[in-house]
Amino acid sequence: MRPVRRGSSPRPDDFDTYQEAKPELISRLGSYCSYCERRIPTMLAVEHIQPKGLSAYAHLAGRWDNFLLGCVNCNSTKGDKDVVLKDVLLPDRDNTHWAFTYLPDGRVIPSAAADERGVAKQAANTLALTGLDKRSNEVVDENGKRVAIDRVSQRLEKWLLAEEAKSMLDADPDNNPLRISIVHQAQESGFFSIWMTVFEDDVDMRNRLIDAFPGTRESGCFDPAAVLPVSPAPNPDGLAGGGKI
Ligand SMILES: [Zn+2]
Repeated sequence: MRPVRRGSSPRPDDFDTYQEAKPELISRLGSYCSYCERRIPTMLAVEHIQPKGLSAYAHLAGRWDNFLLGCVNCNSTKGDKDVVLKDVLLPDRDNTHWAFTYLPDGRVIPSAAADERGVAKQAANTLALTGLDKRSNEVVDENGKRVAIDRVSQRLEKWLLAEEAKSMLDADPDNNPLRISIVHQAQESGFFSIWMTVFEDDVDMRNRLIDAFPGTRESGCFDPAAVLPVSPAPNPDGLAGGGKI
């Protein structure tokens, strides 16, 4: 899950209507769901980390620090479930890149690092909260072709795309236009973590990917020299409950 820095609020006070925050959020984080990482060119929603539908958090309905961007699947799965900050890992305050492992079969699971840091439970809670731990629904069209309609299948599909790009680059590693083109492909496809995982041995590509997705470098969660994760997250805006990994 791509760690991001939202930065300070563009307004001195809370937003009157949370939808007003959307353009600034997209500008700072890109048109991607903050949880499943899909690129959502339209219909991306302002997501309340702590749900505005619960009375305990009603005062956060217009609060900048409580906003991320969410797709309809992650948003509706999350719904009005209570979010206790210490019990989950969040991309705006924890090093969520370090906390999850993306597998070639499309699954995402808590990482060994999360286990070592004692936050595997919080990582699992985040996956359950947003439904990222759901299994694939096998859907086959009338011609017998598998159709990627759920998030697991879409991850698998993007994994294959990234693998294909990597094998092209392996055959011609000094091809700078190809590197630029692959980064554009990643921006179009979303799923930052899959591209980062497939290119895990290519520091140049990882740096390009980090710089291509808005708000990622700014999170401070990557060491610029080696592109290793910085953990715990530096949480530069001092967000509550941050820096658990
Ligand atoms: Zn999503």
